[in-house]
Amino acid sequence: MDTLLAKPVQEIPDGSLAALRRQARACHACPLWKRATQTVFGEGPERAALMLIGEQPGLQEDREGLPFVGPAGRVLDRALAEVGIDRGTLFLTNTVKHFKYEVRGTAKLHKRANAAEQAACRMWLAAELARVQPRLIVALGAMAAQTLFGNGFRITRDRGQWRDLDEHTQGMATWHPSAILRAPGDRRDVLYRELVEDLRSVARRKP
Ligand code: SF4
Repeated sequence: MDTLLAKPVQEIPDGSLAALRRQARACHACPLWKRATQTVFGEGPERAALMLIGEQPGLQEDREGLPFVGPAGRVLDRALAEVGIDRGTLFLTNTVKHFKYEVRGTAKLHKRANAAEQAACRMWLAAELARVQPRLIVALGAMAAQTLFGNGFRITRDRGQWRDLDEHTQGMATWHPSAILRAPGDRRDVLYRELVEDLRSVARRKP
């Protein structure tokens, strides 16, 4: 399978997680660092059994330097609480580590990182995976899912299905909480219930 774990990633940085975090603060491998406040590196125990991978930091994450601390993070927290997963036991990170946005008036509006920016940032995600060595990986949203499972992955078709990433590691993908927040009307409740259902499956496998 064409997965991030199976693909050789050039120049995976060396060092402990703390050393990687320091190195990532000075990363200039794509232009996104120029307009963002800071690098938002992953957070969590160095040997977490479960890693959740989102897409890219938003406004709040950019300000605080931590992943999943904005509105999407609150949706995730609610869903994790429903299925009894303690956020403190997880390693939470993003596919891309800097906030990308466009300015409209006084607002900074989220803009999706392009393929070149995603590719440039893959070394940091690969380094996090190599250090943490989670047994379970959950991709939140299409960007993380395609990074993990390849470009043929379709979140609408393939979410909630466990796949072997290597002999020790299994992965699945589900909705990104931001997609739930953007969904109209009743669709929002449907997607949220699907996120909870998928996380329940994670909780059943989590040691
Ligand atoms: S988005 Fe990733 S690759 Fe680009 S500058 Fe930030 S840390 Fe480096």
